[in-house]
Amino acid sequence: MAIAIQSVPATPAVAAHRAFEQARQVMPGGVNSPVRAFGAVGGEPVFARQGDGAMVIDLEGQEYIDYVGGFGPLILGHTPSAVVEALNKAISRGTSFGMPTLAETTLAQMVSDAVPSIELVRFVNSGTEATMSAIRLARAATARPAVIKCTGCYHGHCDGLLVQAGSGATTFGTPSCPGVPEAIASQTILVAFNDIDSVRRALEIHGDQVAAIIIEPVAGNMGCVPPHEGYLHGLRDLCDRFDVLLIFDEVMTGFRVDYGGAQVLYGVRPDLTCLGKILGGGLPCAAFGGRQELMCQMAPAGPVYQAGTLSGNPLAMAAGIATLEILRDGAAYVQLEQISQMLVSGLEQAAVEAGISVQISRVGSMLSIFFQDRPVGNYRDALESRTDRFAAFFHSMREQGVLLPPSQFESWFVSTAHDLACVEQTCTAAAGAFEAAARVL
Ligand code: PLP
Repeated sequence: MAIAIQSVPATPAVAAHRAFEQARQVMPGGVNSPVRAFGAVGGEPVFARQGDGAMVIDLEGQEYIDYVGGFGPLILGHTPSAVVEALNKAISRGTSFGMPTLAETTLAQMVSDAVPSIELVRFVNSGTEATMSAIRLARAATARPAVIKCTGCYHGHCDGLLVQAGSGATTFGTPSCPGVPEAIASQTILVAFNDIDSVRRALEIHGDQVAAIIIEPVAGNMGCVPPHEGYLHGLRDLCDRFDVLLIFDEVMTGFRVDYGGAQVLYGVRPDLTCLGKILGGGLPCAAFGGRQELMCQMAPAGPVYQAGTLSGNPLAMAAGIATLEILRDGAAYVQLEQISQMLVSGLEQAAVEAGISVQISRVGSMLSIFFQDRPVGNYRDALESRTDRFAAFFHSMREQGVLLPPSQFESWFVSTAHDLACVEQTCTAAAGAFEAAARVL
């Protein structure tokens, strides 16, 4: 069916409503990634028209301070001039070649200089491809089929990672999504984040079957949940003891919590690392990498097959290089730490004044507010949160010009474009939004 796309009138709310209606006629649920549909908070999505620094502007011309940050890539905010200039130059030279370019080697060198565990890197187009390929490599390298992952950690939408707990923790998983075969889900063992004993038990029972443990070193997809002290080191020790590969999924944390990722922040070296989001400076790009002898098992150097028409795309490489060039000297992380710390202090104070109990967790420039009164250390804890209160908070913030990720279980992202004025405006809005949340009994 052909849809006539009409130009949208500037009447408040009507434009977005009409745009969503049209989108739903041609795309399932009207979106290309489920969380964008606002299912977790209700209402209809904000349609972005333009981004500028810390701000995003919707179809009606309403401006918001944006903490979605493209779900992570936009550490420099929207349309940073260095990235736009690099893209303009790259686009005039060609958008895709299907042959190597110098930019791929430049970005690969920058990645291996930044990330301690990476000697060789393979570029792909999405975080999902990165984790899927890293797991294939781990299985090939160990000749074992199973993978351990934590409940509540998200590693993209490949079959073996869309799995829920079986009859008990440390048992093999069952599919959490129709279309995922039992045979594939059953190769994934689920454990609880921050629970080193559950990993030890899983390895004691199934160790000779396990190729790898894959983990978000700072969980970002159950809301932001930092690792407990010693947890990541404990995983490293167990992996060494059972000859299992440790895969850090740093798609979110890479270049976010530190230039070298969480592995630098916490001083733990995984065997394989997955990157994405910031790596492509806002364009589709991801990667996985590790030690030379492991990565040389990838085709064409070795037998493990993986390929991509648009992998190492010149526009994505240009945006990634321009972004990392800005981040490389570390000054951005000092600024991000200061501004994020101020934001969290202001939010905490606003919550106290509104008389509502919340848990705010933060690592660098990623953070979450959990609407509950107990500390959150894993997915089970996160699920105790009052999602109805989060929804009230979210909508009140939106009405006051602050856009948050539309789910209790997503992380907010601060960028270098967020300044003191953004923090003050956010905290002022939060005062009212916490009161709105507290009214939800
Ligand atoms: N791994 C982590 C930690 C992520 O947060 C995501 C996406 O949010 C992915 C993997 C999947 O990346 P993509 O959406 O690019 O496939």
